[in-house]
Amino acid sequence: MIIAIDGPAASGKSTTAKLVGQELNFLYIDTGAMYRAMTLKAKKLNIDYEDTEKVISIIQTTDIDQIIDSSTGDTKTFLDGVDVSLEIRTPEISKGVTAVCEIKEVRENLVNIQRIMGKRKDVILDGRDIGTVVFPDADLKFFMVADVDVRAQRRFKELSEKGISSSLEDIKADIVRRDERDSSRSNSPLKPAEDAILIDTSELTISEQVEFIVNKIKNEKMRNGKNEN
Ligand code: C5P
Repeated sequence: MIIAIDGPAASGKSTTAKLVGQELNFLYIDTGAMYRAMTLKAKKLNIDYEDTEKVISIIQTTDIDQIIDSSTGDTKTFLDGVDVSLEIRTPEISKGVTAVCEIKEVRENLVNIQRIMGKRKDVILDGRDIGTVVFPDADLKFFMVADVDVRAQRRFKELSEKGISSSLEDIKADIVRRDERDSSRSNSPLKPAEDAILIDTSELTISEQVEFIVNKIKNEKMRNGKNEN
């Protein structure tokens, strides 16, 4: 099965997708982390994020992969064989990623990788364009939204726990900026697929979000099973 979870920044997609993946034994693919890894590569090579030609020139020599850490269940992101899962969460990368991910060639390359990963086993992917572009035929699509202040608070807590310091105001400003740019770009903009199930997580707990999605997946599995008989 292929499950797509899209939505704006910090709407709870990754936490939910990870837990759903653990509960149902699906591979969780964090596509935002892949765009962040590409951005980190540009940073390491001192390439300006807005310098499209230079960013394109490093695509072929950049290796991005994800695996599940069997001890924690976390999806780890590797850039050229090195675990960069923490490094890609810094405010600088959050800022730069919106430019890097707008480059058509970067998207084509990462979408290819995501489609190959999708063949490995049952998968749940989170991002902005999973249900619309990467897997338009996904078995189930969800679009998660939440009030911006709730999202900023959650991201602030998450980053603090990882030891990455930033102020609540800066985090909120970054979320608003990224949503605006992600929604207005011409290439694979952030928007719900027509057949996506909308979930507003503003007043839901993580376990409620997870339970809602797990139940939908179980029902879909049963429905498919019945159709096959
Ligand atoms: O999901 P996350 O917030 O880590 O994603 C970082 C950025 O990567 C997003 O703000 C967006 O600009 C970009 N992105 C994207 N398409 C995806 C996933 C993320 O353009 N499928």
